[in-house]
Amino acid sequence: MIDVCDIQVMKPMLAAHGFHFSKAKGQNFLIAPWVPQSIAEQAGVDETAGVLEIGPGIGPLTQQLCLRAGKVCAVEGDERLKPILDVTVGNFSNLEILWGDVLKQDIPALVKEKFGTLRPMACANLPYYITSPILTALLEAECFQSVTVMVQKEVAQRIAAKPGTPDYSAFTVFCQYYAEPEILFDVPPSCFLPAPKVTSSVIRMTVREAPPVPVGDPALFFRVVRGAFAQRRKTLINSLSSSLTDFVGKEEVTQALRACNLTETIRGERLTFADFAQLTEKLQEIRGS
Ligand code: SAM
Repeated sequence: MIDVCDIQVMKPMLAAHGFHFSKAKGQNFLIAPWVPQSIAEQAGVDETAGVLEIGPGIGPLTQQLCLRAGKVCAVEGDERLKPILDVTVGNFSNLEILWGDVLKQDIPALVKEKFGTLRPMACANLPYYITSPILTALLEAECFQSVTVMVQKEVAQRIAAKPGTPDYSAFTVFCQYYAEPEILFDVPPSCFLPAPKVTSSVIRMTVREAPPVPVGDPALFFRVVRGAFAQRRKTLINSLSSSLTDFVGKEEVTQALRACNLTETIRGERLTFADFAQLTEKLQEIRGS
């Protein structure tokens, strides 16, 4: 197997194909073999797994996934990489590469078609410029057992944040609705070519069977969460009433907070997942009454 993380191998191979890194496509390729190995291992990939990889690049993680998984389906948005991937991962019979934008794929249909009875997982060193839309699509697809990805460290911290901390955000609550996150390890810029400006982290999201507490109306729940964080320096009453003007006013939010035993001066960032679920329910009750 070609060691694509060895820059003595990688650089001449890229040069031979006239390949230049595209910043716009988020191309920072791994040059430290322990990283793709650890991602594949800690994602729990084995022969019962069907793995969707996003952005194989020249294939360091693809190789490690193919060595372990029942099947790997990799979606790559840069067709210039085709002749290189033919050389680096062309021998794996359990690999299928799809060319195109991952954000344009019907992910649940793809998973159903490609993986059959295998346990579906997503695994990737993500292109950072579209981290949030990709994670949103992977979680909303509701078809993976786990999503293990490398992202910017600050994004990983945001996903795994606890209430009341500066990293806690609407995206935290969104991710934790679908999955239980665990930050696995950090990866310094020196592990990539070209080196990015930021430190990266690998995070594993174990997808939940159901949200941490029942949520009656998920669409309204997420509106309330986004509204609560829309102006995070303001009190929840002000942030929510100015974001959801068509739904509630200050009076109704105040009433709902009282019913939830939350203080009127509280900010959105203090609310736990369960608080948001209860607040949504109370707002709905007050609106309906
Ligand atoms: N997996 C390789 C590695 O670890 O060295 C490459 C990771 S690189 C950070 C991100 C990869 O995503 C690149 O190969 C890039 O071409 C690809 N990519 C960027 N935008 C994409 C998109 N919208 N859909 C699919 N792949 C995309």
